[in-house]
Order: sequence, then structure tokens, then C-alpha cells
Amino acid sequence: GSTIGILGGGQLGRMMANAGSAMGYRFIALDPTPDAPCGQVAEQIIANYDDRDAAHELAKRADVITYEFENVDAGVAAMLMEESYVPQGSELLYTTQHRLREKRAIEAAGVKVAPYCEVGNVDELRAGVAQFGLPCVLKTATGGYDGKGQWVIRDEAEIDEAFETLNRAGTELVLEQFIRFEKELSVIAARSPQGEIRTFPAAENIHIDNILHLSIVPARVDETVQREAERLAARIAEGLGAVGLIAVELFLTADGELFVNELAPRPHNSGHYTMEACRTSQFEQHVRAVCGLPLGDTALLTPVVMVNVLGEHVEPLLERMAVIDEAADRLGVAPKVHLYGKHEAKHKRKMGHVNVLAAQVDDALAWITETNIWRA
Ligand code: ATP
Ligand code: MG
Ligand code: MG
Repeated sequence: GSTIGILGGGQLGRMMANAGSAMGYRFIALDPTPDAPCGQVAEQIIANYDDRDAAHELAKRADVITYEFENVDAGVAAMLMEESYVPQGSELLYTTQHRLREKRAIEAAGVKVAPYCEVGNVDELRAGVAQFGLPCVLKTATGGYDGKGQWVIRDEAEIDEAFETLNRAGTELVLEQFIRFEKELSVIAARSPQGEIRTFPAAENIHIDNILHLSIVPARVDETVQREAERLAARIAEGLGAVGLIAVELFLTADGELFVNELAPRPHNSGHYTMEACRTSQFEQHVRAVCGLPLGDTALLTPVVMVNVLGEHVEPLLERMAVIDEAADRLGVAPKVHLYGKHEAKHKRKMGHVNVLAAQVDDALAWITETNIWRA
């Protein structure tokens, strides 16, 4: 069998390796953290991502190389492409590492993003605020996640401080119009090197403090909106020439308009529901795509709600297993618990998730409320 190398050894790599192992592949992850989540189920090279010697070793030992996070050093990606097979290439990484490049690429594919402008100095920020009105969102062009590296400007008095604070990151800044969305959706698309494209059903996402809390599938929106979101994701995968997975985050407005928020060229937290709820999981699909296999059927087998298990949820989850099972029996739902093997259950840290399979999403939501683990 062949060996798949993964840049990054977090939970996404772990679930990719679990899915791919079942298909007969071996995995080796490059990650600086000893005993990383992926290293527990695969081999691991413990080194920094930009360590050239480690990258050479990965290239030597792997037949195919993929990544599980998007901030891979461009130089390392280029080097790996010379020494091994990197079906995703480096272009998609280059595009999605930078919000401005990403937005331009989405627009070039014929898909709408929230109105935005580049901000190089505080005068440009002032002009942007005047153009878009308040509130609006200032974001660093690179490196942000879980809402870090952004500032919602609600008052003109905040302009200087917002600029000074985010400008310290030393990257370009982008200002976005604030979209008063009714719902946030996401769609994960897969594209093979041969150009085959499949999309997973749209998820309705609910965030708490900018961290994903719930993914609800089917999304509670018109079927025409679901289809349209899936069509836009396929268009982006095609337009960007993606290989492997590409996750597309969208805003849905009250009048039914869809705007893309951002992309991630990898498995996505909002796609974890596919593990039990779809014919093919996002992780199996990614392995299929990067290995040049035919893509799998993405049909939804059952309604599902995915709820994230953060550091503060782990203890209550394990302590209240009996109560939780009783509630599941009574409500007729099947909660599938996934934990990532992380050692420190820090507050807000993603430790695992539960896929709650149910006859209807309301039953799954009722179970989540009744467990009393995810208290608002
Ligand atoms: P992630 O962890 O998903 O990578 P991130 O730090 O890259 O997050 P975004 O996805 O850009 O951040 O924004 C985080 C959240 O902030 C969004 O899910 C949305 O709820 C809100 N948000 C971001 N941009 C806008 C906008 N232009 N208008 C309204 N809300 C926004
Ligand atoms: Mg992001
Ligand atoms: Mg996001």
C-alpha cells in the first residue's frame, strides 16, 4: 500500500488517517507537538513545519503529501512538490492563506463575497468605514482563526485603536461590510485531479464567541438555498482548480442572498457531521481525491447535529454518560462521541465533537439541551 504524508498532526489529520487506514493506506504526520492527535494513530516526525530536514524526510517516506492546515510555508510546499507528489499543489494554499487573494479568486469564479476593501493606513480605513457604514469588520489578511485577528468596528471612535491593534500583526488588513446574515452555512466540495467534483449537503452553523458550536444538517433553509449554496461551492472548487477538499463558509441574508465569507482548503470542523451521517465522510473523500480514486457518494443518510466538545465540556461529558444515554434512549437519538486524544482540556480548546443522529434535527437539538453540558 502507499503512504500518505500529512503536514500537520492535529485532529483533522487524525480523522484523515483513521479514514485512510481503513482504506489500506499508511500515514506519517509532520508536527512539532510530541504525541500529537494524529501521531497517536499514525507515524509522526516531530519537527517544526518549516524544518527543511524534516520536510525532506517526509518527502522520502511518503508517496503522496497533503496538509491539514493552510498556513504551510510556501517554500516548504514548493520543495515538497519537487521531491514528492503534492496533488493539491501550492497555488490553492497561496490563494487561501491571504484574505484579499482569496476574495479576488472567489469573485473571479463568479461568486459574491461581502463588499470589502484593502486597508493600508488609517485614512483608507476611514474611507472604507464611510463607504460601508457601521458596523463593519476589520480583519488581518493572514493568520486569523476563531475570530482572532479581527475587530468589529461599531463606532467611529474605535477606528484608530482598531487599526493600531490589528496593524501590529504586521500583515495587510481588509475591511468588510458587516453582513446582517440570517444564517451561516457551509458547504464542503471535493475535486479530484481528474476534475470530478462532488459537494456535501450544506450545513447550518451556529458559532459562540466566534468558535463553531453546532452544525445542523439538513440546514433549516429552503431547499433551493441549499442547492444554490452547493452549486456555488462546486463553482469555487472548479474556478480555483482545487484538488482535495475545499470548505466554503457562506452568509445567507433575509432576502435569500448568499455571500461567501471565507474558504479552507482542507477538511473542516463543519464537515465532521459527515463521519456517520453521509455515505462517504469528508475524510474518506479527501483521501480518495488526493489519491486519484473516484469520489464517493455524498448523500445524507440521516438528519444530524454536530456539537463541538471544548475543553470545558470534556469532564461533564464523561461524568454524565449514564444520564446522557438515558436522554438519548428517550429521545430516540444516537450520539456518536469523538475525542481527539489531546492532553490538556484547556478552556475553549477543541477536544472532540458529538454527532447526534436523529429522525429530525429538533430531536438532536433537544438532546443537546437536555444533557446540560452545553449550557448557554
Ligand atoms: P474560522 O475559525 O472559521 O477560520 P476566522 O477567524 O477566520 O474563523 P471568519 O470566519 O472570517 O473568522 O469570521 C468569524 C465569524 O465572524 C463568522 O463566522 C461570522 O459569524 C462573523 N463575521 C465575519 N465576517 C463578517 C462579516 N463581514 N459580517 C458579519 N459577520 C461576520
Ligand atoms: Mg478562517
Ligand atoms: Mg470562518
